[in-house]
Amino acid sequence: MVSSVFQLQCSCNNYPWGRRGTESLAAVLCSKTPNTGFKVEDKEYAEMWMGDYPVLPAKSSKTGEELHKIVDENKEQLLGKKCIEKFGGVVPFLPKILSIAKALPLQIHPDKDLAQRLHAQNPDQFTDDNHKPEIAIALGPFEQIHFNNETIRSLVSTILKSDDDTIKKTQESLQQLPTEKYGKHAFILDLLPRLQNQYGSTDPGNLVALLTMNFLSLEAGDAIYVPASCPHAYLSGNIVECMARSNNVLNTGFCPRPDRDSVDLFCTDLTFSAHSPADVLLPAKKSDRGKLGKTSVYAPPMGEFDMLRVVLGEGKGEKEVLKAFGGPAVAFCVKGEGKLRGGGEELDCKEGYVFFVGAGTEVEFESEEGEGLEVYVAYAE
Ligand SMILES: [Zn+2]
Repeated sequence: MVSSVFQLQCSCNNYPWGRRGTESLAAVLCSKTPNTGFKVEDKEYAEMWMGDYPVLPAKSSKTGEELHKIVDENKEQLLGKKCIEKFGGVVPFLPKILSIAKALPLQIHPDKDLAQRLHAQNPDQFTDDNHKPEIAIALGPFEQIHFNNETIRSLVSTILKSDDDTIKKTQESLQQLPTEKYGKHAFILDLLPRLQNQYGSTDPGNLVALLTMNFLSLEAGDAIYVPASCPHAYLSGNIVECMARSNNVLNTGFCPRPDRDSVDLFCTDLTFSAHSPADVLLPAKKSDRGKLGKTSVYAPPMGEFDMLRVVLGEGKGEKEVLKAFGGPAVAFCVKGEGKLRGGGEELDCKEGYVFFVGAGTEVEFESEEGEGLEVYVAYAE
């Protein structure tokens, strides 16, 4: 029988929008796990993945075995019966750390119906048949843009289908409008040159984002919920992201033309359930999962996971105990140093350390001298 609490080693992908070298929190956190040989080099590091999804699977730091294999061999123990019945024999969520230097592709994640169709037609590109609603929690200043109104579907489609010259000229006209005409939309004047610098002035994402979407700027601890089919583009920052276990995405802007998916598919799938920034914010609430009152929870309106945030203050010996989960959990430390106890184990818990916690296991965190301890825990039950 495998231990129900064990440390994971994770790795990073290198999308070109990632932050470079040690500027990338994702890379720095990856490099902290001992004995992995992971060295931060002078290149882009975008996303650290902390789940069992086979594209970039976490491994046991002790044995090197991939998490999905360990889970598969010990399903009942690690996932629990209820979770297996609801989601099958896999960890139903996928937590990541993203380090964003420039805009990610303007994108939506298909809902379940469309994901099933796309996966059946093109399994190489759409690697699973699941939906992918997601949350994003800012670890520092985080900027992003987000769709706002039903009436703009045809405008979006028109922009996305325009030729390069039209896209370019429209932006030139926008830049010639007098500043005072912009009012509360003055951010457009700041963002337009920034985005042109990143993807050029023929990228339709520049116009779609600035003319039809909301601009949001979040601080550490703020979070948003992005439902399936809801268009979004993350611009800059370090964030925790967690999503239903899927890798499906349709991209139409802020990426080279050959990487763009069908505009018609994108526009047909668009939904506009969120109209204002307030509709997408996901406030943290105090959680009674923490027995000692130091835990808050981000609970998106989806069944696959909730995300806890445990914050222990400075000084030695502050504690929090999390009641046993009905299903699997992944805990990851983004700040400080201390211990994690659970399943008969006592493990060092430091910045960058990631742990799998099996169903039915109570865990205790204790901080050590220094800057306290900040741990996120994604779980399903
Ligand atoms: Zn996304």
